[in-house]
Amino acid sequence: MIIRHAEIALPGCNGFTPLDIEIHQGKIRRIAKNLKGAPVLDAGGLQLFPGAIDPHVHFNEPGYTEREDFYHGSCAAASGGVSTVIDMPCTSVPPVTNKKNLEAKLALIEKRSIIDFAFFGGVSARCFFGNWQNDMKELAPDVMGFKCYFLSGMDSFPPLSLLQFKQVLMAATALGRPLLLHAEDPQLVGKYTRREQERGDSWRHYYRSRPEKAEIRAVRDALKIAGNKAVNLHIVHVGSGRAAGILKNRPGISAETAPHYLTFDLRDLQRIGAALKTNPVVKRPFNKKILWDRLFTGDLDFVASDHAPAPAEQKNSGSVWSDYAGIPGSGTLFPFLYSEGLLRRKMPLSRFLQITAENAARRYGFFDRKGSIEKGKDADLVLVDPQSMTQVCGVDSYSKGKITPFEGQTFQGRIVKTFVRGEVVYDADAGILKEAGYGKFLRPAGRS
Ligand SMILES: [Zn+2]
Repeated sequence: MIIRHAEIALPGCNGFTPLDIEIHQGKIRRIAKNLKGAPVLDAGGLQLFPGAIDPHVHFNEPGYTEREDFYHGSCAAASGGVSTVIDMPCTSVPPVTNKKNLEAKLALIEKRSIIDFAFFGGVSARCFFGNWQNDMKELAPDVMGFKCYFLSGMDSFPPLSLLQFKQVLMAATALGRPLLLHAEDPQLVGKYTRREQERGDSWRHYYRSRPEKAEIRAVRDALKIAGNKAVNLHIVHVGSGRAAGILKNRPGISAETAPHYLTFDLRDLQRIGAALKTNPVVKRPFNKKILWDRLFTGDLDFVASDHAPAPAEQKNSGSVWSDYAGIPGSGTLFPFLYSEGLLRRKMPLSRFLQITAENAARRYGFFDRKGSIEKGKDADLVLVDPQSMTQVCGVDSYSKGKITPFEGQTFQGRIVKTFVRGEVVYDADAGILKEAGYGKFLRPAGRS
């Protein structure tokens, strides 16, 4: 297939390049002017980006599929220009903490996803009752990294102590896989949660139970443990500007933020309520500008959605303390960053490509196949109409989670088509065009 008349976002370029693309057997064979061949897809001068990578989703299958499953989650992601997701190990049952559990999950998900997908493995305190080192070793070839928590809301996936964290960090580093950390200090959050629960049941109380300093202290602890050693550590969903600042210039250590920390704050939480409840909670307003700055400079490496929706009865339980913490986001990740980053804040195009695709693919070891529009790579692409608008409407989403804090917001730009390995999986007019099971499992480099 030839895609003609596209304005292509090539890696490292700060302007679009008007070229054609030839796709052969799912890969980009040529990028040049006036390519001949058939069939032809005329892009009509629209912008063509590498498919977005969402490297942090909770699609909850098997286990909590009343909240989300891989089919709905992957359709929602595709409708937002995402062509690859990496799913977390802790919100499927059993958790992906050993090879047997991974194989059981993979056997199921291979028939469920419409876009390409990868898994993270996990290490919880429970793993320390077994041979966790061997489990990590067996998982390493099949996972993009390992996830752990200092503070976890899940009984099935208890957090690590600092000592356990140190051991797991060294083991992950030796295996050449990043250890992903949910960084909130359990003592601080425990203390403030008890205090605020006694004081009331408002969103301000909830915010105060998990203040910025809980994240800052946890990041400091993690860095102290890392010391001067070369470690392979990644901090997920950074929401505090100061925490992002501490992470600056630490070799081997990377970090991501999420759209909700870039655009919402405590005032929005009080206005929107449960639809914006996440853990970690959104922060005070001044943090947002710092996070955008850090994203521009490269101190934050990329943006992930932390997609984790839930049905209305779980989101609106009657108390801020028991409402489900998590929001859908994979479908709005790229449209949000395109509108609010590339267009409104004039993020350089080359940087936009890094934070939406390139850096996650590099970090997790699949940049040899995905993450940029280059000859020989998978033809994972997203065609964007910059003149049209996208209005977020939860009930129209492909996700099972219809409650979104972005409800009613309008983004400049519209996803026209999403391609995975050369095939259109989503079309703005025709909808989802591929069957569940089209999406392929992705391993780190050397094992594909
Ligand atoms: Zn998460």
